[in-house]
Amino acid sequence: MKKQGMLIVVSGFSGVGKGTAVKELIKKPGYKLSISATTRQPRTGEENGREYFFKTVEEFESLIAENGLIEHARYVNNYYGTPRAFVEEQLAEGNNVILEIEVKGALQIKAQYPNAILIFISAASAEELKLRLTGRGTETAEVIEQRMKRAAEEASSIKDYDYFVINRDGQLEQCVEEIHNIVTANKLVRTLWNEEIDAIQKELIEL
Ligand code: 5GP
Repeated sequence: MKKQGMLIVVSGFSGVGKGTAVKELIKKPGYKLSISATTRQPRTGEENGREYFFKTVEEFESLIAENGLIEHARYVNNYYGTPRAFVEEQLAEGNNVILEIEVKGALQIKAQYPNAILIFISAASAEELKLRLTGRGTETAEVIEQRMKRAAEEASSIKDYDYFVINRDGQLEQCVEEIHNIVTANKLVRTLWNEEIDAIQKELIEL
């Protein structure tokens, strides 16, 4: 039987570059990105089934009722959730599955999958985060203020995470490597290898 893959939860402040980091990470073999369901409207350029599965509120609530999601949360008046089937299939195949989700969903995952790895990605400072949001040039001053306020709220949950990774300006590659190293090390946690350990102990006794 194949060894199960790792479930990796990545959260972080808006504008911190977590989406870019995750896109780089899934270029490595053995990583799969889960596509969430949401009731929010598609943004320009977003496609159903690529960024999200876009659902009506009724469709989303049916998914919840059918136990089709492994976690879900409301975020700024919309539902977001992780479809169960894809995650379970990929883990069984031995792939590492990445969930890019907010903090409430992350805690639901940890409660159900104790071996899941929770990684929080931050900017080096609040000032740097604000500069990045401003630098995008796509957001109004009001939206930037809202996102900074939300970041302050989210910051109170960072200590629920297992790992804290800083995505420094111009050092995306290092951020991606750090996440990959965390996953690699976690695959070697001794408690995941008890069967193999029992087998080698038995072999040694019988030799
Ligand atoms: P956005 O609308 O900007 O794409 O996402 C808003 C927030 O929802 C982000 O923090 C994103 O990580 C989070 N999110 C996306 N998909 C899911 C999901 O399936 N579950 C949860 N709990 N949060 C999600």
